[in-house]
Amino acid sequence: MNLCDVNVVKRIMSKYQTGTKKAFGQNFLINRQIPMSISEESYSYHQEKNFGKESAVIEIGPGIGCLTNELCACYDKVVAVEIDKTLIPILSETLAEHQNVTVVNEDFLKLDLSEFISEHFGNATVSVCANLPYYITTPIIMKLLEQARKCDGSSRLTSITVMVQKEVADRLCANEKSGDYGAISASIAYYGRAVKLFDVAPDNFLPAPKVTSTVIRIELYNEPIYKTQSEKMLFRVIEGAFMQRRKTMVNSLSAAFSSIPKARIGKIITELGFDINIRGEKLSVENFCALADKFYEELK
Ligand code: SAM
Repeated sequence: MNLCDVNVVKRIMSKYQTGTKKAFGQNFLINRQIPMSISEESYSYHQEKNFGKESAVIEIGPGIGCLTNELCACYDKVVAVEIDKTLIPILSETLAEHQNVTVVNEDFLKLDLSEFISEHFGNATVSVCANLPYYITTPIIMKLLEQARKCDGSSRLTSITVMVQKEVADRLCANEKSGDYGAISASIAYYGRAVKLFDVAPDNFLPAPKVTSTVIRIELYNEPIYKTQSEKMLFRVIEGAFMQRRKTMVNSLSAAFSSIPKARIGKIITELGFDINIRGEKLSVENFCALADKFYEELK
């Protein structure tokens, strides 16, 4: 059964007396080439990093299973998390031929991710692959980055290969040389390298979204390569630096850290070799780590 054939999608939805739900960000893929390419991109990178070990992937939002189907053909083990309970009996039918898949009916944002990975994959390193529901793209990605760590701080994920809105992809993958660079780009850069893979036009979905989509891959560092004394402080400083985008960083940070006098913040910035009028969007994540360590010392 071609789960990307628009007539098959419509027939299945009508058999189960359901339709696509906007509230869950349901835009199903109707061109098989796309989930095949997403799955290949995810798997090839995973294998490069995890050679010889059992391959495993988490999918968020399988829908009626078109990407899941491709993931099952590549990976040894697939666990798919779907919030919409009306899709669960559909997935039992559409994925019936695969013995290597488990479907879990949960809200991904409410899962204890560490517990979930241990329960399904033990101590293995896994990847994540999804055509994400666009209304919660950023919280899902931040949850994956923040919570998928072992006790020693190393990553439980090799990579996150996901489709998102194009303009969001521009921000997630931006560096300090680009106008799209912001708090989310700097935060992601702390955990790994985000790369754009390919664009997908609206007519590849049912229903068609208003905007173009982009598949990206975040290739996670096993351990953070930029060192900081306190991750909590690092993310506070990044947030603070971008809080008032059109202001200089000294103004933006002094609004965010009201307990430190503005003159002292200015001194910290110039001591690190930056111009007093620098804006947050000019700092790399490595620069933010250095700045965060100064703030950490200051507030200790
Ligand atoms: N993977 C399918 C495809 O590519 O055709 C469906 C992708 S659709 C863009 C997003 C999917 O995520 C839907 O199946 C939706 O029900 C599911 N979803 C939305 N919010 C979710 C959440 N919080 N947790 C788990 N799944 C969710």
